[in-house]
Amino acid sequence: MTGGQIGNVDLVKQLNSAAVYRLIDLQGPISRIQVADVSQLAPASVTKITRQLLERGLIKEVAQQASTGGRRAISLTTESAPFHSIAIRLGRNYIEQTIYDLSGKYIVGTAHPFHYTSQQELIDGLLEHIRKFIADNQNVLRELVAFGITLPGLIDPESGVVEYMPHIEVDNLPLSEIITDKYGVACFVGNDIRGLALAEHYFGASKDCKDSILVSVHHGTGAGIIVNGQVFLGYNRNVGEIGHIQIDPLGDKCQCGNFGCLETVAADPAIIRHVKSLLTQGYPSSLQELEEVTMPAICDAANKGDELASQALIKVGNQLGKALAMTINLFNPQKIIVAGNITQAKDVVFPAIRRCVETQSLSTFNKDLPIVESELYTQPTIGAFSMIKRAMLNGVLLQRLLEE
Ligand SMILES: [Zn+2]
Repeated sequence: MTGGQIGNVDLVKQLNSAAVYRLIDLQGPISRIQVADVSQLAPASVTKITRQLLERGLIKEVAQQASTGGRRAISLTTESAPFHSIAIRLGRNYIEQTIYDLSGKYIVGTAHPFHYTSQQELIDGLLEHIRKFIADNQNVLRELVAFGITLPGLIDPESGVVEYMPHIEVDNLPLSEIITDKYGVACFVGNDIRGLALAEHYFGASKDCKDSILVSVHHGTGAGIIVNGQVFLGYNRNVGEIGHIQIDPLGDKCQCGNFGCLETVAADPAIIRHVKSLLTQGYPSSLQELEEVTMPAICDAANKGDELASQALIKVGNQLGKALAMTINLFNPQKIIVAGNITQAKDVVFPAIRRCVETQSLSTFNKDLPIVESELYTQPTIGAFSMIKRAMLNGVLLQRLLEE
């Protein structure tokens, strides 16, 4: 009973601090009076919270000339430069690490090949890569406040436990706990595509809308769904397995065990396999001259009017469009974002997606629905940073910093 009450008091404290910090971050420079007005918190509470934020160095006072002239008003802005975070993108065979300050400013980053075949190799290798990254950047690293890690797989975002990875066996890998035990700071772990969707919402293509769907075509195919400014999470906290929507009941077997999933036709390896098989059969194409068929080569050929490459990508566009149309009917988003190599041939792929979306989803939902390419796809670690940003804005990380 008492425990529950204390829990609620803590939660209220966290939410109030977050409301104040969020206003200063998003609308600053802003005065205390305006913060109290907009947040509807009592002026005394705002004074108390801003004092704590000032003492921790998370906000600062700036003198602003009042627009009407006369007395100078004191306003508040967030202070992000002294606080650093390490954002990590863990791929199937590489690792990228970036130091960002709390505003998302890129400080320094590295990328390395990283091969691992078991959970233990993953943990040992990851810790070694982090150790080296920190050692190499000791001279630029300021106060380290958090880690963010995105990876392909299913993760419990609250506990940071990795429940599934597509390429290695994992057994409830407590990734967040391992990092926090080692470095004494918070660690947020999430799915790479959902992380990218959140990053686009904070910093990229969907920052002007509250509801959006990002579909990513890479080794696999997946989606991140943003509803009312939040990543939409279902019962098992992972939604967006668009890659396992069945597109062709008589299609190839998928790694998930079913047949004809979107991923078996509309992911980079499947596209390359399809093009190669057509080339082997002797279809004329400029790709016949190449030693290696890659996604950039297919996109480039399609952009130059190569019939085989164009038809292959239009087929992918149709299949993506079909899966997206179902998702649009369910979520009625304001924008669709496409991420991945295929956007290099967006003039070929996007019209095919649009045609399917227009014929297979409700017209009130698809009318004026923009389909755009990801703005952040080339920044692999930004999804991991966006989870740190979220934890500041919702108070989870903020409260931790205030209580240290
Ligand atoms: Zn599947």
